[in-house]
Amino acid sequence: MLAARMHGYQQPLVLEEVKIPEISPDEVLVRVGGAGMCRSDVQLVDGYFHSALNLKFPITPGHEIAGLVETIGERVPETAQLAIGDAVVVAAGWGDGTCRQCRAGNEQLCEHGGWPGFGPPGGYAEFVAVPYRHLIRVDAKLKWEELAPLTDAGVTPYRGIKKLRAAGVLGPDRVIAVFGASGLGSYAVQYAKLLGSGATVVVFARNEEKLALAKQHGADYAINTRGKSLDDLRAELQRLTGKRKLDAVIDCVGAKETIQTGFGLLATAGAFVSVGLVGTEIAIPLFPLVSGEFSYFGSYWANHTDLQEVLALAQQGKIHSSGQKVRFEDINDHLEMLRAGDIIGRAVVVFNVDKAADPAQRRSEQGVVAR
Ligand SMILES: [Zn+2]
Repeated sequence: MLAARMHGYQQPLVLEEVKIPEISPDEVLVRVGGAGMCRSDVQLVDGYFHSALNLKFPITPGHEIAGLVETIGERVPETAQLAIGDAVVVAAGWGDGTCRQCRAGNEQLCEHGGWPGFGPPGGYAEFVAVPYRHLIRVDAKLKWEELAPLTDAGVTPYRGIKKLRAAGVLGPDRVIAVFGASGLGSYAVQYAKLLGSGATVVVFARNEEKLALAKQHGADYAINTRGKSLDDLRAELQRLTGKRKLDAVIDCVGAKETIQTGFGLLATAGAFVSVGLVGTEIAIPLFPLVSGEFSYFGSYWANHTDLQEVLALAQQGKIHSSGQKVRFEDINDHLEMLRAGDIIGRAVVVFNVDKAADPAQRRSEQGVVAR
């Protein structure tokens, strides 16, 4: 099969023929339909996770995976309800199943776990082996470029906004800001509308085209932050929303500037959640945080339940993806575009882009009858 693999840090992926993985009895072989390209793939290549991940090269990146069940291991139980030809997505936190976090359902937080594409071979390949517990069967109506990004870009901000909801800072007469309007941000504005209980949603970014897309996805207002001071932004917020401060912030970027701006605009008793990881540390003034009783949350990827909820929203047509197909051969070019921030929406690698049938078509070609 074809795979795009990392043979070391800070070098292009090598597109090569490798052996199709052999599955263990509790695994399923998935024929990759689409693999979303994430900014964290660029960070992986650049060595951002070097100290957190002990990688043995070569590795196959690609952690947003949707595809078709190709073969099923002999110990996969009937109750998994998986059949050959089913469209599936891969839930990404593969924990040990025994620690406190795993038992609480948060396998993405497991200290002994892994994430496909960050060690275990990921979706930048025609096939991937997946433990059956981490597959979720999906509606064949959605396209690969809609399905694959849901497993990270689509679900990570969902978990973040659930934390803001739980913090009690959303509701009518509240303002929630989404920082960033790329892969994660374009989903975050949709969840801010869906889970915000009437809160006004303002998206902050520096790219007009991305801001326009966020407006299409339901943001009430868009603010271009380029070249603006905190006072400029307060004035613009006042003009648009009637308020100078934000009750809630989801930061899908995680750059020094977005953290400073987000905390700088936060209202008393406001809450800020970080999901983006562009920078490496946060520095925020201490007195406003203490005296204003700010809440700060880290939110990491998402668990199986979060993904099931997001898939339900997608399958009911309540959220929309702006994925675009990328040819496997063009994978390195698109990593460069991601590095430069030039991708609008989400790029999704497909194999043989012209022939890559969407799940429904593929199933009928295989003679698989929909349930
Ligand atoms: Zn665990």
